Amino acid sequence: WYQCIDKAIRWTDGRLVRMEIAIDITERKEMERMKDEMISAVSHEMHTPLTAMMGFTEFLLENEVDREQQKNCLRTIYKETERLSELISNFLQLQRLRASMVKFRIKPVQVGLLLADAAALYAAASKKHRVMVECPPDVGAVRGNEEQLYQVLSNLISNAIKYSPDGGEVVLGARAGEDAVTFWVKDQGIGIAPEFQEKIFERFFRVDNTDRRKMGGAGLGLTLVREIVAAHGGRVWVESAPEAGSTFYVSLPAMRQSEAA
Ligand code: ADP
Repeated sequence: WYQCIDKAIRWTDGRLVRMEIAIDITERKEMERMKDEMISAVSHEMHTPLTAMMGFTEFLLENEVDREQQKNCLRTIYKETERLSELISNFLQLQRLRASMVKFRIKPVQVGLLLADAAALYAAASKKHRVMVECPPDVGAVRGNEEQLYQVLSNLISNAIKYSPDGGEVVLGARAGEDAVTFWVKDQGIGIAPEFQEKIFERFFRVDNTDRRKMGGAGLGLTLVREIVAAHGGRVWVESAPEAGSTFYVSLPAMRQSEAA
């Protein structure tokens, strides 16, 4: 794709020559195409929670219901609202990331501190799960955007909690390798069958079974994780088996001591 930004008519070698200056806008066109595609996919995804919310509200308005029925309807409406809000926030983040509007504020990020901060927050917020860190204090630093890396961790921890029974433990850990720092989020939850372990990173993909359908979610959390990790030159993967818990690993290029100075 090219866009003409200027035109001129010149005498060259005794002839009138018409010149056009064009710039390559292929990348911009591709961005626009991706954005349109995302918007239509998200509008489609919004339809389900909105229909449920409208249906249950209408039911409450038009029927005499007892307290228990009322509570059930409100619970569903609440869950769907949560789902919608998560969908929109993940969508916006993804969009921002793709459009590189988030200025990549790159600096050394200490992985140990990142894990400790996230664990402290989730340990305080989640009363039904234990969130712990097992990580050597000197695991090292990676070069990246702290806010985005925190988002990665936060999406993984909230999934670990969401897909684990009450009372489960979520353990965060990290190790330093030769060129990379790897951290992980391990849960004792429902696990993921091998055939879905790649697919879960795809946009809107959710493993479909009754247990999981009860959980709010839009299937964008792991897509965002994968995009952020890839933008940092790293990779993310999962080791899991049904009913045996899951461990999500994120490996990022390590910063050398000389770089950290
Ligand atoms: P969401 O949780 O909103 O559905 P995600 O993109 O975060 O979307 O996850 C995609 C799917 O991967 C989930 O619907 C779920 O089926 C599966 N999944 C993600 N994390 C876990 C986990 N820790 N344990 C079991 N299943 C998981």
